[in-house]
Amino acid sequence: MSHIPRILIVGGGYVGMYTALRLQRRLRRGEARVTVVDADSYMTYQPFLPEAAAGNIEPRHVVVPLRRVLHRCEIVNGWAVGVDLQARTLEVHPHQGPPRTLPYDILVFAPGSVSRLLPIPGVAECGIGFKTVEEAIHLRNHVLAQLDLAASTEDEEIRSRALTFVFVGGGYAGVEALAELEDMARDACRYFPSVDPGDMRWILVEATGRILPEVGPDMGRWTLEQLRARGIDVRLNTRVESAEGGRVVLDDGGEFDSATLVWTAGVKPHPLVRASGLPLDDRGRVRATAELTVEGHPAVFTAGDCAAVPDLTKPGETCAPNAQHAVRQARTLADNVVAVLRGTDRKAYRHAYAGSVASLGLHRGVAQIYGRKLRGFPAWFMHRTYHLSRVPTFNRKVRVLIDWTLALFFRREITSLGALSDPRKEFELAARPESRFPERAEHPLQEGRPGPRAAEERSGSPSPAERR
Ligand SMILES: Cc1cc2nc3c(=O)[nH]c(=O)nc-3n(C[C@H](O)[C@H](O)[C@H](O)COP(=O)(O)OP(=O)(O)OC[C@H]3O[C@@H](n4cnc5c(N)ncnc54)[C@H](O)[C@@H]3O)c2cc1C
Repeated sequence: MSHIPRILIVGGGYVGMYTALRLQRRLRRGEARVTVVDADSYMTYQPFLPEAAAGNIEPRHVVVPLRRVLHRCEIVNGWAVGVDLQARTLEVHPHQGPPRTLPYDILVFAPGSVSRLLPIPGVAECGIGFKTVEEAIHLRNHVLAQLDLAASTEDEEIRSRALTFVFVGGGYAGVEALAELEDMARDACRYFPSVDPGDMRWILVEATGRILPEVGPDMGRWTLEQLRARGIDVRLNTRVESAEGGRVVLDDGGEFDSATLVWTAGVKPHPLVRASGLPLDDRGRVRATAELTVEGHPAVFTAGDCAAVPDLTKPGETCAPNAQHAVRQARTLADNVVAVLRGTDRKAYRHAYAGSVASLGLHRGVAQIYGRKLRGFPAWFMHRTYHLSRVPTFNRKVRVLIDWTLALFFRREITSLGALSDPRKEFELAARPESRFPERAEHPLQEGRPGPRAAEERSGSPSPAERR
């Protein structure tokens, strides 16, 4: 029997999933087998994460189940941990069981990026990123839990800490996440008579002198004015110096306690990139050719956030890490893989950046597309129609549209289901006859540091309430 080439795709995100989709459409039966390796069983449509966090879209509708859409591909869930470029194998650690060694004829290397964290004391312990659907769900529950907490305590320190929300990084992930969550929290305040929207502090810390560079300087300035007009404290040219125990210290002298620190200060290539042995550029990205192969490795293709792909529309520059490029690169990449299999010519990737759209909360947005500037409702409408047209599969499009339509007629849900992340807590408590009250949350991102009562219970002294 003749050998059927194996195409192995590392990462089932934008690049991985769109490449596999196109391959399964273009490849003839028996021409090649396609295997996708991803730690998750779904692809995340990241531009919808801010809306998922704000409760406008059901979180399950911003992810695409790989097994459902890639029915002609094999899906392996686990971590790819290393590539042997000589032997042409990939080592994969499934979530349980022994490691697997998967051979390949053609490797598509697309593990994307992770949050770019700086070695700032306390950030790794107190902060959270905004790249995954789990983080978006957590933040929604967390922000609502802070409102519950603020409305239920008489302790001013705890209240102020709960109502202080800090976002670091003014790119589209940070600005959209902050704007959507602030909008949701402001709306939710109507159900918390003791919490006035003005009691909340929303702070955006940005190290450079501008925000939202993706929509250009004019629209960035306009967005800054809009956010400030909403009472959001935007601090430009400012850096976080530390965040130990939730005490955020800025280099402009600002200092406050916050139970919420969201880190959106850019991305860096996934750690697997460094471990791959592939040639890297000075920013740690895989060096790609314009045909999306890796320099010096004609059997390895790469694209997306992990790759330095030459931008042929701007000689000397590389493509920015965004979905606009990732989706289009995936198309060219898949066509070039087919070209290799069939011995035909490969194409160079070329796309001029069209601009960006960003949502700033319900009915508010900003956009710059092909030099056309839009703001307010038209930009928000464009944001929704653009992303609805882009979100993969008809099934997702209909579900997202239904979510938006329902949101027109009903108010947002304001229940914090934070306990979802710890579903066994109640059962464990029931199994311990001696414990009458649940322990207070210890994690700085939970309801607060161990409160005075918890501390006093341990030391045996009465709580402030008992003293009163
Ligand atoms: C909140 C947010 C909003 C955004 N909004 C926009 C927008 O409006 N417009 C825009 O153009 N771009 C936007 N982006 C950027 C865009 O989503 C990314 O550029 C795009 O996802 C990059 O695609 P990728 O395939 O390179 O990486 P990803 O889509 O991140 O996919 C990488 C995949 O690899 C998997 N993986 C990683 N390492 C391993 C491993 N070792 N083993 C197995 N699997 C692994 C991951 O699980 C993931 O599924 C946004 C990003 C965020 C976070």
